[in-house]
Amino acid sequence: MLFSTEPKDSVKDLFDREKESAELRDKLKERMILVLGMRRIGKTSLVLSTLNSTDRNFVYVDVRKIYDEASRKVQAEKLYEELYFSLTKLSRKERVRDLLTKLNISLESPLKAKLPLDEIKGNIIKIFEQLNRIGKVVVAFDEAQYLRYSTVGLRSVLAHVYDHMKEVSLLFTGSEVGLLYDFVGVEDPESELYGRYFASVEIRPFEREKSREFLRAGFKEIGEKVEESVIERAVGEIDGVVGWLVYFGKLYPEKGVDALDEVKSLGSKMVKKELEGLFIRSPYYLDILKAIATMGRTRWKNVVNYVIVKNEKKVPNATISRDLKALMMTGFVEKIGEEYVIPDPIVKYTILQEY
Ligand code: ADP
Ligand code: MG
Repeated sequence: MLFSTEPKDSVKDLFDREKESAELRDKLKERMILVLGMRRIGKTSLVLSTLNSTDRNFVYVDVRKIYDEASRKVQAEKLYEELYFSLTKLSRKERVRDLLTKLNISLESPLKAKLPLDEIKGNIIKIFEQLNRIGKVVVAFDEAQYLRYSTVGLRSVLAHVYDHMKEVSLLFTGSEVGLLYDFVGVEDPESELYGRYFASVEIRPFEREKSREFLRAGFKEIGEKVEESVIERAVGEIDGVVGWLVYFGKLYPEKGVDALDEVKSLGSKMVKKELEGLFIRSPYYLDILKAIATMGRTRWKNVVNYVIVKNEKKVPNATISRDLKALMMTGFVEKIGEEYVIPDPIVKYTILQEY
């Protein structure tokens, strides 16, 4: 079902993306793979569908699920637990059961509460060692930029895995591309993973014609007759991001033409929550986003002017530059040539409407 709102887990449900899927399949032979793209563009879907389409063993950990908003941490126990339970879903379960018995943990038993951090780290390493023994395996961390909040110092574990466990491939997805690079630290001499080779697959928004085709195909699948003008209006406002198109398709049979407003209001609620977490970190993020949302493709000079006028005082260029870089790290802003843009139409809408 194209309009189902859960991530797709089978290539037969994936619209388009043959190229990306083939690319990912090919890159699974590498030891470290990054899957990059903005929120709701289809990273989880691509990863799960592609991995399910090969006969390769894989383990999937949704890092966002275990990230605790209140403490802003990924607790070691949670990570361990998640990794551990994901083993139970491995296709060669019997084999894993054997291996885990050697670890003195049965597959069914709940984890013992409160282990010391060192022991948790040790156990995580043991899990990787056991995985390495069953042959080629992919360990996928979804929204892996959150791993930088992990209390267990995971990066050194991953570097150890990279260097010594040749059967294991590490796959990371990230909406916050810059933050994921930061976590992996392949360009940071201080990082344990510095200089390691990694492959990457980038997922771009659908071109406008693809967005139209997606909606047509989805409506056809559910037997809903929809005017071209409706499709045209929808792609005009929520172009390219498949997650938003899915919401529209899902809501249309019930809400008719109001579905578009529904998507925008529902979407801006979600986006608002994501932005709020950001805005506490700098007073200028909102002004910068507002400048770009208002002006469309915006040059550096115009961003600076906007921020100064808005604040009625001189804001140092270095501050604005730092904040703009940080916004690009989160993926809310993109630089095309010399101009800054907000690639997600609903993010743009939210900034214009809600602030
Ligand atoms: P991400 O992980 O990048 O945030 P998801 O994989 O969760 O994105 O996808 C967001 C939404 O879009 C989900 O409803 C998913 O089912 C749908 N989706 C993503 N990619 C495709 C695709 N290629 N074809 C059909 N639906 C898709
Ligand atoms: Mg996802």
